[in-house]
Amino acid sequence: MLIANISGQRVEASFANKGPTYHCPKCRDVVILKKGRIVTHHFAHKPPVRCSWAKGETREHLKAKQLFKQEFVRRGLRVEVEHEIPSLPNDRRADVVVWSPRGQKYALELQHTAIDYNSLENRTESYIHAGVRVIWVPFMRPKYWKEANELGPNVDGDFLIERFPARPLEKWVHGFNLGKFWMFDSDRNALWCAKLYKHEIYVEESSWFDPDGEKVSAGGYSRISRRWRELKLWGPYELEQVSIGAKKRSSKKMGNHNYPGGIVGEFVVKTKNDKLVP
Ligand SMILES: [Zn+2]
Repeated sequence: MLIANISGQRVEASFANKGPTYHCPKCRDVVILKKGRIVTHHFAHKPPVRCSWAKGETREHLKAKQLFKQEFVRRGLRVEVEHEIPSLPNDRRADVVVWSPRGQKYALELQHTAIDYNSLENRTESYIHAGVRVIWVPFMRPKYWKEANELGPNVDGDFLIERFPARPLEKWVHGFNLGKFWMFDSDRNALWCAKLYKHEIYVEESSWFDPDGEKVSAGGYSRISRRWRELKLWGPYELEQVSIGAKKRSSKKMGNHNYPGGIVGEFVVKTKNDKLVP
């Protein structure tokens, strides 16, 4: 985690010095300041770790929170990492909260680990009720990146991964954002705009003889894969190219997804010729 308490005050690891005793804001245990060369400066619990705030934290997640914070600070905006929003269920910390010049709060949920539909829906609803505009940002998974094909100059989109095993997170966020979403690429420290499409599998035609000597055939058609989606990507875009906007969406049930209605955040990128992406 990036935040700890010292004498009741929040302090960020990148501004903290070794020496004083820091405490976890959640469990109040002593935490150790880690200021290394490679990993983003952070605080760590001592083993055995029982605190729920110490779980599921990855190096990539720490780095992403720090990068987004730096970018919005550079723009002169108020930004907090691991900002607590009291009405959020379970972990009450929003990864990054940005205040617009008019004081409107935007929360970035940088999601590096898997998350289920209930958590996505409850958390989103809670943000909407708290008047905080949420943007969910799944991380790109590098192993699938190896299968990406670069698309030609006359094709809409930059890369295509033909067989992408979309998780509940990506499927849900795609629908929540009305047909697109943004992914964080922790190798490039950049964002990609993404869209999911159905993946068709061709079932080869085959024929055989049944016990009565009748010729039977099957196959020769395409079906929609349940497991795979096609993932089309636009980008990469540096964080400094990305603005934050808002949009209203209505509550809707689509299959096994329940989308809460309200005002939510979105990333907006314009290309050189002022065209919206994608
Ligand atoms: Zn703790």
